[in-house]
Amino acid sequence: MGTILIENGTIVTLNDLEEIYSPGYVFIENDTIVDIASGEAPSQYLRADTVINANLMAVIPGLVNAHTHLFQTFIRGLADDKPLLDWLKTAIWPVAQVMTEEETYLAAMVGLIENLRGGATSVIDHQYIHADPRNDDGVCRAADETGIRFLLARGWADMDYHPALMETPERIVSETIRLRDRWQIAGNGRTRVEYGPLIPWGCSDETMSHTHEMSRNWCSGTHIHVAETKTEVDMNIALRGNRHIEWLAELGMLGPDMQLVHSVWLSDAEIDLIAKYKAIVVHCPVSNMYLASGVARVPEMLEKGITVALASDGPGSNNNQDMLAVLKTTALLHKVNSLNAMVLLPEDVLRMACRGGAAAFGLPDQIGSLQPGKKADIVLIDLDTPMAMPVHHVPSALIYNVSTRDVDTVIVDGRILMRDKSIVVVDEKTILAKARKVCDDLFTRAGIKVD
Ligand SMILES: [Zn+2]
Repeated sequence: MGTILIENGTIVTLNDLEEIYSPGYVFIENDTIVDIASGEAPSQYLRADTVINANLMAVIPGLVNAHTHLFQTFIRGLADDKPLLDWLKTAIWPVAQVMTEEETYLAAMVGLIENLRGGATSVIDHQYIHADPRNDDGVCRAADETGIRFLLARGWADMDYHPALMETPERIVSETIRLRDRWQIAGNGRTRVEYGPLIPWGCSDETMSHTHEMSRNWCSGTHIHVAETKTEVDMNIALRGNRHIEWLAELGMLGPDMQLVHSVWLSDAEIDLIAKYKAIVVHCPVSNMYLASGVARVPEMLEKGITVALASDGPGSNNNQDMLAVLKTTALLHKVNSLNAMVLLPEDVLRMACRGGAAAFGLPDQIGSLQPGKKADIVLIDLDTPMAMPVHHVPSALIYNVSTRDVDTVIVDGRILMRDKSIVVVDEKTILAKARKVCDDLFTRAGIKVD
């Protein structure tokens, strides 16, 4: 991998002091940031294997997309304008039960390239289609080939879910162990595997407790959709007599290793429980708006010290993987919802997307900010465009002005994956052509008519 110098850029460190160096430089050795400071780079760094001139660019920590379902890349646009449970029945489930490993791999490839193009260097994939168990391997293979940092939250349901997508507790455990054995150390440790119980109404108490105990022994986390819709919370009250977060607290599962995706329909007491146990909330504003699920109480959560990460959710409910659009939507949604223009500042949103994402990913000491000793996961964004100039305040431009088309360079683990707006690790056009080719057959097998 060697050495990389990024010089002359505006470095948005997101370190504890939230310093911005303009101009500044970053020096990378192999997979690690070894030096970062304001001003001109020392002359010895100019001998780096690669020197990148970041003049008129923002240099930021890679964004963390803390929740998606990459297989849904092929489903996007198929079931617009439906509430969650209808959307599952008409689009997601028919396709999910017939996808092959190759189709899942190609869907993941397209989805991961889209993530990179949007400035996301780390992705948590809540992957729950195992009609063919090799689908999980297909997704991990795609992650490995793109070079992105990847956390496979292996999804599962063992009760009351679609029969073709349910599994026995024995298979859930044996398959997750198999995937960890195969992928946990892949690509310099970039890929990791954890348990991803799908939804409270599809997961038994026994398997929840058992798998979470295993996760804690592995020092990894648990990833679950909770309180996405009011209907699902009411279902839990009817089934178990308590709300989602109360249920997780009773099972002893709340902690910094718990990733609570959505968390829209929470009571005051549940927000206090999340704060008390330092669990992480993963906020998916575009998906929550798309499915008309509701507005998560993010500003209140932040006020109580809760760590919030941001995510696109699956392309089936977004319909894209554009994290920069998620950042802007986060700011705007909470301003209008609270009728308070000060409720979230650009810095707050960046902190959620990077530091919050790093905590959700389980690597708060390794990613999420640009600091010596941290992994070199870095994104360069062009600010010299008609869409952004003149830039008065870089965090503001990053939230309100820039788009995926401005992402210039993406580095993960010290390796350049995208340079001058081109993906350099895989042949993007070939992947798109292959993906287009398999879709017709997939939709025919799923019995879905596409116009
Ligand atoms: Zn989801």
